[in-house]
Amino acid sequence: MIPRFRPPLGWPEIAAALRPGGAEDVVCFERAFADWAGQRHAIAFPYGRTAQMLLLESLGLHGREVIVPAYTCVVVAHAVVKSGNEPVFIDCVPGSANMDLDAAEAAIGPNTGALIATSIYGEPVDLDRLTALAARHPDVVILQDCAHSFAAEWEGRLVQQMGRAAFYGLNVSKLLSSVFGGMVTTDDDDLAARLHVLRDQRLGPASGAKSLRRLLYLLAVIPAFFGPVYGLVDRLRRAGWLDRFTRYYDEGAIDMPADYLQALTPLEARVGLANLRRWPAIVAARRAAAAHYARAFADRPDLRLPAPTPGHTWSHYAVEVANRDARVTRARRCGAELGILIEYNIPDMPAYRDRPGYRDCPEARRRAAGTVNLPVWSNAPRHLAKVVAAVRAELS
Ligand SMILES: *Cc1c(COP(=O)(O)O)cnc(C)c1O
Repeated sequence: MIPRFRPPLGWPEIAAALRPGGAEDVVCFERAFADWAGQRHAIAFPYGRTAQMLLLESLGLHGREVIVPAYTCVVVAHAVVKSGNEPVFIDCVPGSANMDLDAAEAAIGPNTGALIATSIYGEPVDLDRLTALAARHPDVVILQDCAHSFAAEWEGRLVQQMGRAAFYGLNVSKLLSSVFGGMVTTDDDDLAARLHVLRDQRLGPASGAKSLRRLLYLLAVIPAFFGPVYGLVDRLRRAGWLDRFTRYYDEGAIDMPADYLQALTPLEARVGLANLRRWPAIVAARRAAAAHYARAFADRPDLRLPAPTPGHTWSHYAVEVANRDARVTRARRCGAELGILIEYNIPDMPAYRDRPGYRDCPEARRRAAGTVNLPVWSNAPRHLAKVVAAVRAELS
């Protein structure tokens, strides 16, 4: 079975994990990440959501409204709440999964503190419109959520370089990974200094026990995504046996992982540094896979394909389909797994529908109900052909 994603990790990362090291590994990873992002500073955290929460705190935002997409990873809204602020949800712009920037601008009020621009699935946010919006609202802090996009580009400009700071998630489902982990990049020296202080105050040290847990997780997760092993893992997962490891959120609760305030381990930093060196190959394979699907399904008006925006980094190739669940089942029988990633519209979730930032978001709701993600972690012709055949298979 072709899995919906495969961690971007392998032997180089295992070798890096097994090498001895120390606290300086985190500094090395940060320096390399800052260079890669084209930013002056990078500051590492145990999760993307921890990075985002402490970033909002370090900006002095408290009791403010933070504009976020309705259609994004739910932990983004959780981190806003945990930072002591209130998320205000904005629908997708028609024709894209990205947030509607006109609606976002209309939602700006006297208590708006920040706007979290997001290049969802790797589709670059429209930096021309965002720059114009920022100029009209100089008091609203613009942050970039790059957990899907990493180094996506809008007309040759890197998205992470626009705004006050950018944050990234680095778990095994992302384009780049340090096992778990998160990062903030910024060109603002004062903000970086404040974030360092806040990180030292708020995060506990990375323990040896945590390093060992991360090593065991790494050694288990890499083989889990290979052919026959994945078939078994997938059956166990669907039977609910792996919920402890794979469940990402609880519909009714705004919570964080138990260890979200324990620093990134040096082991994870070494893995992240090794992985960063492979970025050119990672993004090239994804772009090739996406271009292949665009050609292969050009004759299928029933599949709503993503726009082939230049500078897209394709963390996911998201297609809107009718009869989603039947299509996923059919593809599975043909040996390809179609991913269902953001299957919720955040303001409709029990934890959010009664909060003040609730907005009716019909586009996000429609996308949540009808989107599948085609595997883009490989551009091997044999893999691509199998996925295309699985998607083309008639529904019975
Ligand atoms: C994964 C993700 C995050 C947060 O990352 P974690 O490391 O899981 O906390 C933030 N935003 C988006 C869009 C994501 O997909």
